[in-house]
Amino acid sequence: MSSDSDIQTTPRGFHCTLCKVNLPNEPSLDQHLKGRKHQTLKTVRATRKTQEEHSVFVSGIKPEISQTDLTEYFQKFGNVSDVIMDKDKGLYAIVQFNETESVHTTLSCLEHQMKGLRLRVKPREKKEFKLIPKKNDPHNLQQAFDRLKPELCQLASVGAQVQHIVERFQLGENEKKARGLLVQLLQEVFVEFFPDSQILPFGSSVNTFGVHSCDLDLFLDLENTRMFQAHAKTTTEQAGEGTSDDGRSEDSILSDIDLSTASPAEVLELVATILKRCVPSVHKVHVVSTARLPVVKFHHKELNLQGDITINNRLGVRNTRFLQLCSGIEDRLRPLVYTIRYWAKQKQLAGNPSGAGPLLNNYALTLLVIFYLQRCQPPVLPTVDQLRDMACEEEACVIEGWNCTFPSQPIAVPPSTNTQDLCSLLAGFFSFYANFDFAGSVVSLREGRALPVVQFLGRDKAPEEAPAGPKLGPLNLLDPFELSHNVAGNLSERGQRGQRGFQRECQEAHKYCRSLQYQRKSAKGKPWGLARLLAPRGGGQPPPPRPEQPAISIPFRPAALPEALRRELRSAGDGFRPLWFRRVCGAVEGVLGSVLGCRLLASPDGPPPEDGEDPEMEAEMEAGPDSSPPAVAAGTKRPPPPSGEASPPPGKRPRVAKEKPAPPPSWSCVQTHAVWAGRRKVRRELAKGPDSRPEGSCTELEAQVSAHIAHSQPELKEPLEFRVQAQMAGGTESTKAVLTLEPANDGAGVFQDFFHFLEAFLPKMVETMLEKEGGGT
Ligand code: ATP
Ligand code: MG
Repeated sequence: MSSDSDIQTTPRGFHCTLCKVNLPNEPSLDQHLKGRKHQTLKTVRATRKTQEEHSVFVSGIKPEISQTDLTEYFQKFGNVSDVIMDKDKGLYAIVQFNETESVHTTLSCLEHQMKGLRLRVKPREKKEFKLIPKKNDPHNLQQAFDRLKPELCQLASVGAQVQHIVERFQLGENEKKARGLLVQLLQEVFVEFFPDSQILPFGSSVNTFGVHSCDLDLFLDLENTRMFQAHAKTTTEQAGEGTSDDGRSEDSILSDIDLSTASPAEVLELVATILKRCVPSVHKVHVVSTARLPVVKFHHKELNLQGDITINNRLGVRNTRFLQLCSGIEDRLRPLVYTIRYWAKQKQLAGNPSGAGPLLNNYALTLLVIFYLQRCQPPVLPTVDQLRDMACEEEACVIEGWNCTFPSQPIAVPPSTNTQDLCSLLAGFFSFYANFDFAGSVVSLREGRALPVVQFLGRDKAPEEAPAGPKLGPLNLLDPFELSHNVAGNLSERGQRGQRGFQRECQEAHKYCRSLQYQRKSAKGKPWGLARLLAPRGGGQPPPPRPEQPAISIPFRPAALPEALRRELRSAGDGFRPLWFRRVCGAVEGVLGSVLGCRLLASPDGPPPEDGEDPEMEAEMEAGPDSSPPAVAAGTKRPPPPSGEASPPPGKRPRVAKEKPAPPPSWSCVQTHAVWAGRRKVRRELAKGPDSRPEGSCTELEAQVSAHIAHSQPELKEPLEFRVQAQMAGGTESTKAVLTLEPANDGAGVFQDFFHFLEAFLPKMVETMLEKEGGGT
């Protein structure tokens, strides 16, 4: 039991008062206490406490007293680490010292006088540390949804519901005006310090997809200032020290910084100082220099608005323009994006607090909607390459070497001939991504198709001279302009809310969209249409696991493959799946035989196939293990039908490329010892040290462990006989190898134990085996 004072025992288990979560049992409590959230909050609380104990509250200040004055004055009581001033009214400040001792010294001084003013100094108030619930806290999501539900239910059609989502959440005219005024104010302030600079809004405030609380993304364009400074420098040098053509550069902040050599972080520090000192109502200003694009974050109190300023995001401004254009070309895009963004938020799949995080961001989500619309039949939106070709000469635009050309007006783009309504397009989105091969594809809006992922293998580890490729991950979505950037590169392999969560939720939504409740208004007043589709995922729990299958999946994870195999797969192009599958089958056989010491009997279906052409195997893969309809995917020979028509009528299966697939490879195995029991202990003994090597990371060691168990433990009372059958998935779902296990003789009743062991062991061990073989043929 935990002795942590934040933990209370409850009738249903435990409650953590710090993180406000319930834990059903001791293992989950242990995990929670070691977890990142609990540890981070503990650290934040300890830091706050220290800050409180190290500071004093000073009032009676007048605006003429500056932060520097206060620092100088209080320095005589001890080392001052920070002074936080109330900038709006300039009446009080918090002075923070390095030690508590200095606080005592300050408080023991009876009178504090500065510039003829008498300052009042008090101990800083101690506030209880509380976790403020986040906007997408499941409880809040549910409450907001409960208010929306009756509004949706009373509408006449799904189309009307989708339109209602837009009206309910879009930025109002007044909000847009207020944001515009703030941008104007910032422009006036910045131009004072950075002559000829320009502040440009981008992102959701202006991309036509903004919602009430969305942040304000700003790009501070200092290009002209840089030129101005360079010019001023030359003229100053020519005319002698101390003069410039219009006197602006020496008065401005530019005398403190050289924009041609300063790092982005240095410039942003300066931007932050200007914001703190000169813009009323702006607070919580801080620089995040670790982000892909360093940024200054701030909060505007009156507008209750989060703002981000970057200084090198010309591409962001351009891709915002692209999104605006897409909205202008196609009226159905906005309602779909609003609905999908809201759906993803409800399912906790998108929207990272403060920008960074492991979930999809709204930009990525919007691109996924556009890609789907490009793939509909007939297409609802043109590809980015097609748009480039529709632009006229004056519209040519290249940023950082990337072609960002597209027409400036929607009128230049012929309207789509696709007539699907919003109800069917929304359902189509879910069916499209429910059956999408994320593992095997790279989504390209530029070409309007999914490229085989192997085309990019090796590029992210390429030698210096080759252009860097996108960072490959579980979801590969190329930026439409910066073609070396995966906008979903932040998703991790393991997260329940990443690509896997997204696809699983799409599958659930797809299932629901095929039911009558989706399309037909309930006569009995029951929730229907979006009133069910958009319900929040309950209680912050991850999506429910799929019903257990007696199968083990080995996912296609290109990033984990050895370089040589990556190269081979790359040269196989669209045919990469069968090649990878053959390698995996070889590795599975190796794990079962040489690592786990199973006796492999000749299988009635023959051994797994050798390398080389195997057209029938490819047919099998094209069909997929369940022969479900092919989605837009790399690796299918026939261009797959885009999702607008992707779902065949229920009960009808589409024709597959070849009708008679070869029997899948399989093995009949015999195991005489419980090689799964006590492995960890044996491994530790054999490795002669602490258990530092993770399970499955070394083939020799694991083979020794099995041999040791076989020698030291008695045989099973009856040998376990089982059959393993391998199948390939991909094309219509994420590329993976699926191994089905079936007991043939389990007199000792150990098959379940062995199966559960293999579930975790086999995928890791197969990767290690492939790594060991180095991908050699
Ligand atoms: P919201 O702020 O409502 O979540 P948004 O569309 O403003 O939605 P942000 O994540 O704030 O999305 O991103 C703002 C802009 O920054 C985007 O419009 C895009 O131009 C750019 N951007 C965001 N994420 C990426 C990314 N992963 N790769 C490239 N550009 C991005
Ligand atoms: Mg934004």
